Amino acid sequence: MSKYDVVVIGAGPAGYVAAIRAAQHGKKVACIDSWKNYDGSKAFGGTCLNAGCIPSKALLESSELYERARHEFDTHGIKVGDVGLDLGTMQKRRAGIVKQFTGGITALFKANGVQGMFGKGRMLGPGKVEYTPDDGNSEILETEHIVLASGSTPIELPNIPFDEKHIVDSWRALEFDSVPPTLGVIGGGVIGLELGSVWSRLGAEVTVLEALDDFLALADQQIAKDAMRQFKKQGLKFKLGARVNAGKVSDGKVKLSYQDKKGEHQLEVDKVIVAVGRRPYTDGLLADGTGVKLDQRGFIEVDDECRTGVSNVWAIGDCVRGPMLAHKGSEEGIMVADLIAGEVAELNYNVIPSVIYTAPEVAWVGKTEEELKKAGVRYKVGTFNFGANGRAKAMEQATGVAKVLAAQADDEILGVHIVGPLAGELIQECVLAMEFSASAEDIQRTIHAHPTLSEAIHEAALAVDKMAIHAINK
Ligand code: FAD
Ligand code: NAD
Repeated sequence: MSKYDVVVIGAGPAGYVAAIRAAQHGKKVACIDSWKNYDGSKAFGGTCLNAGCIPSKALLESSELYERARHEFDTHGIKVGDVGLDLGTMQKRRAGIVKQFTGGITALFKANGVQGMFGKGRMLGPGKVEYTPDDGNSEILETEHIVLASGSTPIELPNIPFDEKHIVDSWRALEFDSVPPTLGVIGGGVIGLELGSVWSRLGAEVTVLEALDDFLALADQQIAKDAMRQFKKQGLKFKLGARVNAGKVSDGKVKLSYQDKKGEHQLEVDKVIVAVGRRPYTDGLLADGTGVKLDQRGFIEVDDECRTGVSNVWAIGDCVRGPMLAHKGSEEGIMVADLIAGEVAELNYNVIPSVIYTAPEVAWVGKTEEELKKAGVRYKVGTFNFGANGRAKAMEQATGVAKVLAAQADDEILGVHIVGPLAGELIQECVLAMEFSASAEDIQRTIHAHPTLSEAIHEAALAVDKMAIHAINK
């Protein structure tokens, strides 16, 4: 029987980070992962590296360059002749990046002394994990601590089963080998917008069907409306308040049925991406009677420190409550490893940035204006349009808006919302500001380099007190 200090089940961004951090604290660590790619190869990195964040951003970048080469280069006075698409090369690049990064985890495990193990992990009870590799010869691992980091999996709609060809999840949709002439996307959330953008830029006619009446219901609605206007201009079609309830494949086409206020409708498309959310994945993770509890939606129950309530058993990442984001899982991994090492550690769940990597990007942190109104909090608002930002103009991306919300009472920043170029990079200044409970005045008095996109944040903070320099204060 092998003995460890920590056994981590799952090597996604939550699990592999926890494993590395625990090893850095001098612990003897094993990290088990059962991920298998379509070609049968195994890899660490979980959804994020293999089928999520990394491959989607590779395709978003390539498809945006293609779009800009076709429609924007002329404006800069660059003549490139006919711009063509070589999807094979684009996909090879995407796969190459994924391989490099997943291989990187193996290298990091080795460098930190983490024992990476391919196979299934199952918690038998406190201090005991069953490890089953592909050959089926199980082994019992004894350990002081267990960290459950089994991630999540796409939700499948009851009457629209995946057939891996016409009706697919986000992973298959990253690996299309041709551009579908028409594409239906069920769900106007993060995945729907990112993957809808990729295939629309590459030539598909994309229709996004969203059940809710509001677009990006969780985002600040001023920002969401601006984003929607820009996505529509790019050719994405939206049907809001449209709940898809059935999908059938016949003659190589998918017939979708959806319901809106006006009644029942049909939409026929070549392919459909189902992007209606993900569910925690805990299949086969827990033997009977471990004491680890699941909530009604299948998430492993944990407290603020990711303790399951069973002594020395922790759970992190997508399989527990909170937003399903790689950086949230990784920070939980770090916190848990530090707590295991006896250090003081905590995570500020109020300051988790969200980014949608469309063009323009949408990013936010903290409260939306709608949330503040609902909570009866008195606040000040400052906005600044990227149209008046020199760097954005130089980049030919001078659209969108930055918005800062600060408390009327003491000027503390309560939320920042951006739709604009590289919003995902810009938001980080605001995350740090909020982490330190900064005021709008703190950003106002911070020197921002000129000409940079970050000046839009500076100006939005100034606008909170009607002191913007490069805009008319209303
Ligand atoms: P996962 O990454 O799902 O990893 C869990 C791992 O555990 C998997 O490898 C699984 O095989 C393994 N496992 C499960 N059960 C067992 C078991 N019993 N034994 C052994 N191994 C097991 N988030 C962002 O923050 N930014 C983004 O840009 C972003 N883009 C995304 C794009 C797409 C298309 C998708 C689908 C997701 C995206 N996400 C993004 C979400 C992000 O991928 C997840 O939040 C993140 O991967 C969760 O990390 P995790 O470690 O909790 O779980
Ligand atoms: P989501 O929750 O963001 O969006 C799902 C949408 O589908 C919702 O708006 C919902 O109203 C809609 N919907 C549900 N059932 C429907 C139906 N029958 N018909 C029409 N619409 C329906 O989920 P997602 O886009 O699948 O993403 C899953 C998770 O992955 C998210 O939690 C997200 O955080 C994460 N993710 C993050 C990033 C990023 O950080 N950039 C990128 C991709 C995914």
